[in-house]
Amino acid sequence: MSLDIVGDDLKVELPTGESVRFAHLDYAASAPCVAAAAQAVGELLPRYGSVHRGTGVRSSASTIAYELARDVVAEFVGAGPEHEVIFTRNTTDALNLLARALPEGTVTIVFDGEHHANLLPWPNQLRLPAPGSPAEALESLEEALERTGNPALVTVTGASNVTGELWPITEIAALAHRYGARLAVDAAQLAPHRPVGLADADYLAFSGHKLYAPFGAGVLAGRSDWLDAAEPYLRGGGASAAVGDHPGDLEWATGPARHEGGTPNLLGAVAIAAVCAALITADRDALHAEEQRLLKRLRDGLPDTVREVSLFGPDHPRVGIVSIAVDDPAGTAQRLARDHGIGVRAGQFCAHPLVRRLTGDATGSCATTPGLLRISFGLGSTDDDIDRVLAALRSY
Ligand code: PMP
Repeated sequence: MSLDIVGDDLKVELPTGESVRFAHLDYAASAPCVAAAAQAVGELLPRYGSVHRGTGVRSSASTIAYELARDVVAEFVGAGPEHEVIFTRNTTDALNLLARALPEGTVTIVFDGEHHANLLPWPNQLRLPAPGSPAEALESLEEALERTGNPALVTVTGASNVTGELWPITEIAALAHRYGARLAVDAAQLAPHRPVGLADADYLAFSGHKLYAPFGAGVLAGRSDWLDAAEPYLRGGGASAAVGDHPGDLEWATGPARHEGGTPNLLGAVAIAAVCAALITADRDALHAEEQRLLKRLRDGLPDTVREVSLFGPDHPRVGIVSIAVDDPAGTAQRLARDHGIGVRAGQFCAHPLVRRLTGDATGSCATTPGLLRISFGLGSTDDDIDRVLAALRSY
């Protein structure tokens, strides 16, 4: 099956000598590869060659595969003629690209609960405190939009990498658009779990390695006008249409090529597209239902000794990501790995302001905040994975 996990039966040896299946519960950091991605890469490799450069069967097969990959991703995000799909390295790269492509004077509005990739790149930043509810998010955003005037870009995550909670993207988009602003969505954690699209957002960014396609590529999809008017993200071959003899005598390409300077990551793009194609035809409702079932099993089974954190409250919809406050997050994560063959993540998950707020350590420094323990899962995760982490946490 195309959405089967590569390495699903990876075994690890415990200190007792027992061999167990590795329970990967750190999908939010990097998800495992699915068969569709590995197969697409494997099938292309014998014909691998240069993209948009050269002649012959390798180059033409590679160029076709690359542009086909773009078309598939465009379908995945519902891109139209007014949009572009640009292959990047990851979400961080995609958001930095967009940040550099903003028209002069654009004010960016961002909540401080964002992952650093969606917090640090933005110029002219109006930073709002992370809201305690979706209604509060809309209220403080409206206030900011009223103050700001045009042009503005609102940028928010689709799903929090710390709490898994979904942000009210449709409502935020409607509000931003009412004020003539645009919306960028950091879909790094949303795209692997829920359908994403450009119906609400003007820009979407996500990473292949979180979308079961760990071959070093990411995506920025969104409206072409700002992107085509911007300075190329990387100055060099591919981005340049014509170069004269003098430094200023050059013409930049338009379209995705403008921001894809250098030889592109063909295998990364093809891998992402293969997963997108598999997800387009998959029963997303069934995948969602299974993920929610596992999420309930996990949350219902958490021992009283740990506290699950949330921004919008325990009943707010979320994806398969749960962060808990425990005495020693790093030590607990190490014990889970060493003694139980379970991979999770401990720390502040590149969201320092949010984690400080959720741990009630608002005045603490990054160095002193112990952070949280995060359990995250997705395709291929099982009841057994959940039960094992719960049993281990109960035993501490
Ligand atoms: N945004 C969110 C919400 C994330 O969870 C992450 C990765 N943890 C990123 C952005 C950055 O993704 P990448 O490291 O692939 O650039």
